[in-house]
Parts: sequence; structure tokens; C-alpha cells
Amino acid sequence: MAGIIEIYPKVFRADAKQTVHIKTEGVEKLRPLTAKVQPMEKYDVPHSPEFRLESEEQRYPYQRLKDLGDGVFALEYEFKGEQRYSFKVRYDGVEICSTFLYSVEPDLAELRSFKCETHCHSCRSDGSGTPFEVACAYRAAGYDAMALTDHGWIEPSYEARDAIAPLTDDFRVFPGEEVHNEWSYYHVVHFGGNYSVNNLIRDKKEYIEAEIEKLLASRDFSDVSDPPSAAFRAVIAQEIRNAGGVAVMAHPYWEVQGEYFMPTEEFLHHWRRGDFDVLELFGGNDAVGNGNNLAEILRGELIAEGCRIPVLGASDAHVTKRKCGFDYFDLQFSVVFAKDFDGIPEALKNEYAVAVERRPEDGRFRCAGKYRLVKYARFLIREYYEPFAKLAAVHSAALAERDGAKIAAAEADIAAFRKRFFAF
Ligand SMILES: [Zn+2]
Ligand SMILES: [Zn+2]
Repeated sequence: MAGIIEIYPKVFRADAKQTVHIKTEGVEKLRPLTAKVQPMEKYDVPHSPEFRLESEEQRYPYQRLKDLGDGVFALEYEFKGEQRYSFKVRYDGVEICSTFLYSVEPDLAELRSFKCETHCHSCRSDGSGTPFEVACAYRAAGYDAMALTDHGWIEPSYEARDAIAPLTDDFRVFPGEEVHNEWSYYHVVHFGGNYSVNNLIRDKKEYIEAEIEKLLASRDFSDVSDPPSAAFRAVIAQEIRNAGGVAVMAHPYWEVQGEYFMPTEEFLHHWRRGDFDVLELFGGNDAVGNGNNLAEILRGELIAEGCRIPVLGASDAHVTKRKCGFDYFDLQFSVVFAKDFDGIPEALKNEYAVAVERRPEDGRFRCAGKYRLVKYARFLIREYYEPFAKLAAVHSAALAERDGAKIAAAEADIAAFRKRFFAF
């Protein structure tokens, strides 16, 4: 039986003629191998009535592939603009492969995609697994980057970072913490900064209280019923920015102790004043979808008002193994587009992140963010990240063993896969 082993690259530059390679096995010379590329958004063929063609065959005829030897065949095609293409291969008239290709404009070709977690916990707060084990679990699920954000302190994220950094450059652990006040129940996620804002609250309580008082005196809080709560959150977000971090509004519609985590009036107040950098739009612990849906709709209304609300998805996982209690590990995450790892925090702030939420029952997912990035991320999640996760799992196992040779071998396989997948 003839079969397809691999199709590469799968992502091309827009508006340039390039070659799709089809690696096969069992193809007999005398039986033709043909393929077609069909753009899904910018049609090659006009669809007006006089040009109406009766069948797909006439619109996008299958072309004979060029035999490059060693079972590798090639098809030249000019990819137009930024879009997804369906790609089908026939052997002796029978379809043997149906997949998708993609082409991107030059600015996106300059950026790498990073699957990121920005909010999760370890046994250093109320999660399970050591920081190193949690980091390895994320790598095994195909993540490129993460921040551990344990409650109340930044040190566990340093512990994970310091364990991972000497072992690999291909997976990045950022500093992170979930910032709390001691006297009440406010959570703000701090991603990537240079020092702990929790420590600041503990060590410089008078300073924080003075900042809150200053803000209460200088800003109109008549739109909220609990001004100190809103002022606290605004001050904490400001302190996260001062620390060089990304201030993330965490789980606004999390249902906790019989109420939503944040009054809607505060959600509106903060985004109308630009207090936060990014909204955790899709979060974990939202089994019925109520909270994430409400946040999504409210964001839409605020954008219509003229607000700017970058988004991300984050699971807030407390457990990284499936089927044990709080089971939302890897159900929400972000695909971030940046030049390199160091560019991830800025990319989050500049709307270069796509928030992703996956349904556990059937694996279908929805995304939010800029249209062209969502479109590209949707392609990458299936076509790139699914095969990548298999390689990342091998890499993760090598990291867990701290085995230098195995780590290097896994990284070579990952680099080779990435190089074949992208034409640039
Ligand atoms: Zn929280
Ligand atoms: Zn949390």
C-alpha cells in the first residue's frame, strides 16, 4: 500500500512560488501520484455565475507530482496572501492524504510561535508536584514556555527556572506569582517581572497603603461600590509593571464562595482606565463555561467603547496529571507570537497572544484575539503542536532524568521537525 510519511513544509511565505514536499512509501512508478492545493479564503477561481464550474475537479485539478527520488515528490505552488489551504494527495486516482497548509505575510514569518502557560501552581502553594515536576509536565504537553504562579510568593517560579535553565534553551520558565493581599481575597497574576510584588506587600505595607490612599484621593471611584478593593487591584497591577512584569487580570468570573471573584463594575472600572496589561479571558475552573463566556462578552462591549484589552488563556492548574480532581491542566493556554523567548512578555501586552480554550470531551477548541493570529494559531494547534507534543514528551522525560545526551538528542529532533515544518 502506498502511504504518505510526511508533508513538508506546512507553513509558507505568502506571495511566492514554493515547493511542497511529499515523502511517501510504497509508491509504484507507473501509478500516478497527484495532488491539489486549494486556497480556503482567497479563491483562485472566480465564483460569479458565468465562471461557475460544475465540480471541484474542474476548479482545482489534481496535478502530477514531480519525482525527486527516494520516495520524495514535489509540487510547486504560489501561495497567495495569508490563509489556510486544503491539500489532498491521490495515488492512482484514490485519495490517500488530506491535510492543510498555510501561508503567512513577511511580518509573521519573522515571529516564532510559543505555546505558553501563564498561571499554574505547584506543591509550594496549594497545587501538587514540585516546581521542577510541574515544569516537566508542561514540557511534556508541548509547551514552549510557562510561569509558575504560586500563591503569595515568587520563589517557586525561581526554583523551577533554576532547575530547567541549565538543562535546556528550548523551554523557558519565567518568574511568576499570584499576588495577594493579606487582609482580603484579591488575586492578581504577575508574569515575568524582576522581583516579588508579594514581598513588597509584606515588607513595605505602609508604602502600598499610602499608594492606595493616594489613588483613592486622585481618582474617581464613584463607579464601584468598594473603592478600596478596586484601588488595591490598580496599585498591585502598577507595582507589577514597576517590577518589569505583565499585570494579568486573573479569573474575573471565577465562582468562589458563592459569588463571582470580581464585581463586574470593577472589571469595567479597570479596563476603562487601562490598569491591567492583559485579561485572562479563558481560565480553568470554569466547567460550565459561564465565567469565560461572560468575560468574553464584556470584553467585546468594552472594545466597542474604545478600550484595549489584550487576552490570554491560562489554566490555573493545581494538578498536572489528568483525572484527579481539579482537572484543567492544558485545557486553557496561549499561543504567543514573538521573535524569541525574551519577546514573550511584550507580545502578551501587544496583543500578539491568542487565548485558547479546549473542550475536554471532544478536543475542539475556541480561540480569542486578533483575527489573523487566531486563524494562524488554529492551524498551528492541530498541525504543528500535536506532532510537536510527541517530541516534547521525549524531551521532557530526558529533562526529568537530567540526562544531557538524551536532552541533546531530543532537541536535535525538535529542531529538525521545526525546520521542516516552516519554509522560513
Ligand atoms: Zn487565583
Ligand atoms: Zn491561581
